[in-house]
Amino acid sequence: MHDPDCLFCKIIAGAIPSHRVFEDAHAYAFLDIAPFGKGHTLVVPKFHAATLFDLPPEELAGIMPALQRTATLLKNRLRCDGMAVMQLNGAIAGQTVGHVHFHLIPRYAGQPAGWAPLAGAAKAEATDFPALLRQILG
Ligand code: 5GP
Ligand code: ZN
Repeated sequence: MHDPDCLFCKIIAGAIPSHRVFEDAHAYAFLDIAPFGKGHTLVVPKFHAATLFDLPPEELAGIMPALQRTATLLKNRLRCDGMAVMQLNGAIAGQTVGHVHFHLIPRYAGQPAGWAPLAGAAKAEATDFPALLRQILG
């Protein structure tokens, strides 16, 4: 299912550019434009659903291998020390884009580990997306 008015459906379709980290038949993973940590990646189902509650269980199951594979890729290539997996539903929970998505947020010893976009030097490093993609994808 595709919603022509949905930002993430447009990204999946390539109508809006993104830095792709991984893709398979069920899921699309790309770097978050305002990272909370270096390598912050969004994993989204190709099936349009606004929230976790709207996603058919088989579609949820379909994206789990991509979620784990993308997390493993980020861990191995960026050598992070841990990783947060975050998924928000509804504006009150902080959801801003109405297409269900999982955040993969690599965490590094000695680095800020907050729940907001990075600032300063950490932001500069985490938003050098071409360099980051080279590191992740080799
Ligand atoms: P939410 O708060 O809905 O869980 O997360 C939405 C995420 O989408 C935010 O972290 C935000 O930075 C990211 N985002 C919003 N617009 C774009 C965009 O056009 N491209 C990319 N790559 N990420 C986006
Ligand atoms: Zn969508």
